[in-house]
Amino acid sequence: NRRIVLAKRPEGAPQTDDFRLEEAPLPEPREGQVLLRTLFLSLDPYMRGRMNAGRSYAKPVEVGAVMEGGTVAEVVASEAAELQPGDLVLAHGGWQAFSLARPEHLRRLDPDLAPPSTALGVLGMPGFTAYSGLKVIGKPREGETLVVAAATGPVGSAVGQIARILGLRAVGIAGGERKCRALTEEFGFDAAVDHRADDFPERLRAACPDGVDIYFENVGGPVLEAVLPLLNDHARIPVCGLVSQYNASSPPPGPDRSPALMGAILTRQLTVRGFIQTQFVDALQEPFLKEMGAWVREGRVRYREDIVDGLENAPEAFIGMLGGANFGKQLVRVAEP
Ligand code: NDP
Repeated sequence: NRRIVLAKRPEGAPQTDDFRLEEAPLPEPREGQVLLRTLFLSLDPYMRGRMNAGRSYAKPVEVGAVMEGGTVAEVVASEAAELQPGDLVLAHGGWQAFSLARPEHLRRLDPDLAPPSTALGVLGMPGFTAYSGLKVIGKPREGETLVVAAATGPVGSAVGQIARILGLRAVGIAGGERKCRALTEEFGFDAAVDHRADDFPERLRAACPDGVDIYFENVGGPVLEAVLPLLNDHARIPVCGLVSQYNASSPPPGPDRSPALMGAILTRQLTVRGFIQTQFVDALQEPFLKEMGAWVREGRVRYREDIVDGLENAPEAFIGMLGGANFGKQLVRVAEP
């Protein structure tokens, strides 16, 4: 069983030698378990947090342990009545070619309903994050303006497209010309702004003539600073991610900006609420699959995947994704179906 383990904890941006490719014996399913062959591995920004020791909303991956991750897999041997060899499932198999699981931790996938890889993207955790965070915390209303960054990624692209379906003006922020073009031409955003441009704050202001009512926070840092002066009274900020900060090993240089941020929250009566998508699963997973499934089938929500071949290439793809090298949902094809 080929697998990738955490070799050591990174300092700042992860390096390929923070990971190690290993060969281990093939595990055997016991009573109530299935053996899964990984087809697709999902690479997600949250994995950077799991590489650190210390307090967070989930336990870190131990040094020497297999890296965590969502997978789409095929059942190859079953000691559980619910699943048969050949069944496709959504699992949490980690960065490895084979894994064991119990059926209650798996969701069976119907390849006739949607391509199985979408269970890791637009119809999976990232799509659900967009849907739940936008609806519950963003409280979108027709005619309002929404801004989201990392906007060609699986979360951001879904946020913008759902906002448009609900009648909002959607402004996407992405890195580089190619991604910005995709925002307006492929994903239907009303405007796209390149955060790497020298005059990014001015361009963003021009793209939001009526201010900003919802800022779906994916990145933090300079993007947040550019959005802050544009926020309208009673604007909502679902705080979903801060990917620009995940590799930071020291605080940014001064001055301290927290008084300006707290001042804006107070005087403009902003709602700022962080969330981890799991808190909404019980309440919203079913409506999400139904509504988003229909939007994807009807072509009203589009998605993009960036597929890298071979488990051994996962570390490099992961490191690249944190800096924006991916264009769409980052997946690793571990085996052919
Ligand atoms: P993406 O596929 O969008 O990948 C991350 C993207 O972040 C990069 O492609 C890059 O896009 C952008 N980025 C990186 N550094 C910067 C920077 N300094 N400034 C601006 N943009 C930057 O990831 P996801 O769609 O999977 O995730 C998006 C966010 O959602 C992340 O913050 C993630 O942690 C969060 N998340 C939160 C969840 C929750 O439950 N709270 C669940 C799932 C995701 P570009 O080239 O356009 O700059």
